[in-house]
Order: sequence, then structure tokens, then C-alpha cells
Amino acid sequence: MTIHRAVVARVQPLTPAMTRVTFHGEGLAAFTSTGVGDEYVRLFFPHGPDRQDVSLPRSTEQGGWETPEGRPVAPMRTYTVRTVRPQAREIDVDFVLHDHGVASGWVASARPGDVIGLNDPTGLYRPPADLARQVLIADQTGLPAVARLLEGTPDGVRTRVVLEVPDPSAVQPLTRPADCTVTWTYGGNGRGPSRLADLVEAAVPPGTDLTHGYVWVAGQTNALRTVRRYLRKDLALPAERFKVVGYWIPGSDTWSERYEALPGAVRTELEALWDRPAEESEDLTIRYEARLSDLGL
Ligand SMILES: Cc1cc2nc3c(=O)[nH]c(=O)nc-3n(C[C@H](O)[C@H](O)[C@H](O)COP(=O)(O)OP(=O)(O)OC[C@H]3O[C@@H](n4cnc5c(N)ncnc54)[C@H](O)[C@@H]3O)c2cc1C
Repeated sequence: MTIHRAVVARVQPLTPAMTRVTFHGEGLAAFTSTGVGDEYVRLFFPHGPDRQDVSLPRSTEQGGWETPEGRPVAPMRTYTVRTVRPQAREIDVDFVLHDHGVASGWVASARPGDVIGLNDPTGLYRPPADLARQVLIADQTGLPAVARLLEGTPDGVRTRVVLEVPDPSAVQPLTRPADCTVTWTYGGNGRGPSRLADLVEAAVPPGTDLTHGYVWVAGQTNALRTVRRYLRKDLALPAERFKVVGYWIPGSDTWSERYEALPGAVRTELEALWDRPAEESEDLTIRYEARLSDLGL
């Protein structure tokens, strides 16, 4: 894995709640897109007020990264690569502006010349080869991925999109493949309870034929626990027919503290849940998430 140094070239408000930042730099010469529409990177932000001083980690042999000794740890967040322009050595990232947070605060004052670090991208959207029909459902954080997935969808694939954004001002124009229906709904996104679970049930009701289908859902993590259970248990979809990805956690600033405050035996039980074969991973995630919900996490 390479950690790239990138410099802000342009900042463009897209809607009142979302800003596009174009990163450029010689450091992006070696950036290689996976070509997968929901590919994401880890962004490494400045640790202090100097917006050009980023403590770039270095990659490790195990495929991770580490902060060089004696250097401050760069705050890290995960974002979708909205657009890649390899010849111009540019990528775009669309940031949701929300109440507070390292990334949200950084983007609110982003300007050309600011420096960040980013790693090589990873894509998660992996539809089966027989794809004839897909359902894409997301809140505002998943909107950049949905927009890019639509741009890459071949015309023969029937596509249903449902987006949950805070209000009508957050709606954006989308490039659509030939057979595509898009519905915008309002709410969630930290401003109210998310309806992602209901939206998935309405778009993929019991009895839906997903023999040649794929369902991709992204957004508020705790709202997606019900979704994963519904797709896997109620609809009995095989793991390769869907992907559910938690993008952000409400109250994430205190989550680790609340987890660490759990009795030792409960933490051991949660950790033991992961000690299972990889093929069980979807069912395991369901069990793990159900336990977290019981514990109010
Ligand atoms: C694979 C992947 C791809 C992603 N792609 C994008 C993307 O393209 N664009 C994008 O904007 N986000 C994206 N996200 C989500 C983003 O990583 C989180 O929203 C992240 O927590 C924002 O960091 P922050 O420093 O602004 O806030 P944090 O410091 O992480 O959190 C501070 C507070 O803000 C709350 N919070 C965090 N995010 C939101 C939000 N979106 N709405 C309301 N409250 C929030 C937290 O609960 C916490 O209370 C993606 C996440 C993943 C896992």
C-alpha cells in the first residue's frame, strides 16, 4: 500500500450540505483506481492548525500503515473517491458537512494548497457476473458512491435507487443508465431517525426475484443492522447477492469509551464472536450487531 500526498486544487459547494474537494498532486501519479464505483480511501488530515503539515504515515509490510516514530498521529477518516482523472492527477471527494468532526470541520475551511494524505483505494461493490437488476440505497454519505456506481452501470441492468437526504436542498443531479428509477426521501442523516431499513423493505419486499440481482446499501451504521438481518435472514439472500456497508456511527466520538466501559466478560464474549471461519462472516456480523444493539452501542 502506498500513502500518497495530495494538495487541494479546488473546492466546490455542491449543495448546502455537501462540498466537493478536488485533490491534485505529483503524489497522485502512483494512485491507481480499482475502477469499482464505491471505492474508498483513508484520508489523513493535519494534526494541528497548520493545514499543510500532515504527518504522513508509512505503509507496513502487512498492508497497513504506521506513524513514523516521534511524529504526531494524523487523524484518519474514510471517504469515497467520487471521480478519478488519472491524466490530470486529480481525484474528487464529496464531503457531507455535518455538525462537528475532524473531516467535516476541515472541509468547511478547505482551500487550495491544503495538504492531506491518502492511501490506495478499496472497492466493495461486487455484483455477480449475471447481474440484470440492482437496488442501490443510501443516505447522504453514500450518495457519492451511488452517483459513481450509476455512471458505471451498463444500460442492460435494471436499476432502482433510493436516497435518504436531509431535505430537498440536498438533492443532486445524477447520470442515470437507461432503465433506472431514482427516489429521493427526506430525513435521517443525523437530523432525525433514519428510515433506511423501511426503504430497503419497500424497495425489496419479500418475494422479490433477485436471481440475477444485487442489493447494495450504505449509510448510518446502526440503521443498517436491521437491513443486513432482513436481507440475509428474511429474504435468505446468499452473501454474494448483497453488500451492506456502515458508513458512519452516531455518537462515534464516545463509542470507544462506551465499549471500554462494558464489563470485561461482555467484551470477551463480543471478541470471541469473531473467532469463527470467514465463510460465516455475514451471519457473524448479524450476531455481533444484535449484541451491540442489546448493549445500546
Ligand atoms: C467506505 C466509506 C465511504 C464513505 N464515503 C463518504 C463520502 O464519500 N462522503 C462522506 O461525507 N462521508 C463518507 N463516509 C462517512 C464518513 O467517513 C463519516 O461520516 C465520518 O465519520 C466523518 O468524519 P468526521 O471527522 O467529519 O466526523 P467524526 O469525527 O467521525 O464524528 C463526529 C460526530 O459527527 C457525527 N457524524 C459523523 N458523520 C456524520 C454524518 N455524515 N452525518 C451526521 N453526523 C455525522 C458522529 O456520529 C460524531 O458524533 C464514508 C464512510 C465509509 C466507511
